[in-house]
Amino acid sequence: MKNTLRTVGFKPGERNIFFHILTACNLSCSHCYINPEQHGTQTLSKEQVVSWLELFVDPEKKSNVIFLGGEPTMHPDLAFSIKKAKELGYFVTVDTNGYLFHDLLERTSPKYLDFLSFSLDGPDSRVNDPIRGEGVFEICVANIKKAVIFGYNVSVIYTVSSENIDHLERMVVLLKSLKVKKFFIQVIGLRGRSVQSVHAPKIQVSREQWLHVVPKVARMAAESGIQVTYPAVFLPENEHFECAGNVAENFFIFPNGRVYQCPLCEDHPIHSYQIEDDLLVKMDGLTEDRFFQLEIEEGCVMNKMLQPDTIEYDGQGRPLYKISCCLLKLEIGGD
Ligand code: SF4
Ligand code: SF4
Repeated sequence: MKNTLRTVGFKPGERNIFFHILTACNLSCSHCYINPEQHGTQTLSKEQVVSWLELFVDPEKKSNVIFLGGEPTMHPDLAFSIKKAKELGYFVTVDTNGYLFHDLLERTSPKYLDFLSFSLDGPDSRVNDPIRGEGVFEICVANIKKAVIFGYNVSVIYTVSSENIDHLERMVVLLKSLKVKKFFIQVIGLRGRSVQSVHAPKIQVSREQWLHVVPKVARMAAESGIQVTYPAVFLPENEHFECAGNVAENFFIFPNGRVYQCPLCEDHPIHSYQIEDDLLVKMDGLTEDRFFQLEIEEGCVMNKMLQPDTIEYDGQGRPLYKISCCLLKLEIGGD
């Protein structure tokens, strides 16, 4: 059947490497999750990038690497790193803010780079630019068009917050006209800069808003031929709760060598691993994996600790729903 909504379960035969090769960025988006105090300010050398890629590749598993920053195209050796990752057997994605520094399109090729993902937080500059910066929409859209002409597979990431949820629907027409193949809808988390924002308590959308808008827009985009992926957020009633930290292989690597298994933990020094002298070292003490073992009625433990306002309770103090693992995704279209 076409356009069936499916849950993208955690796949034991797969590992995902979210590789922040630097934390510097030319923009300062209001919801940026990068926290230099916790993630470092280094730019990894070309040699470090290669040796860390080698650390995480598993020839027995489908290995996906997503190059991130800061802005990863500010790294002078990104094109080299993409080619190296492909040679090692990775499925390679780059997430960019759209500026495409160092002539990335010309210096790499769709042969090495499987997907180029652009971040847009609005269907026009009036919505996008107050969040991402003056003039950003125009540059990002121009570079999406250029990437499509060059033959790259292009996707777009939209971080939903109370500032832009009402404009999500208008993205469908824009993405279709730009020939974007995949659309990733994210939910804003209280991490990094969004915690410090004066709007912090109000920036997250309610359960009603999310459920009213996101599944409907995802279906519309799927009907236009675009594959859409979005987080479940509120665990569907028939689904069993699982913490990806226990059952999947996700590694969030930062330039200071910290390696997390859960993105919600990234503001705290509770990382599971540390890369030291190009070796992966398991951390002792109170690390995130201790929390993954805890079973609570509300579902995700870290969500309960860090974003308790996202949960609603009945008169007896029982949660009305479970919050799913933030890494559990729903997918529609592209079938
Ligand atoms: S969200 Fe991305 S593009 Fe925006 S400031 Fe942070 S790293 Fe830069
Ligand atoms: S988001 Fe929650 S459920 Fe998912 S890995 Fe982190 S702690 Fe586990």
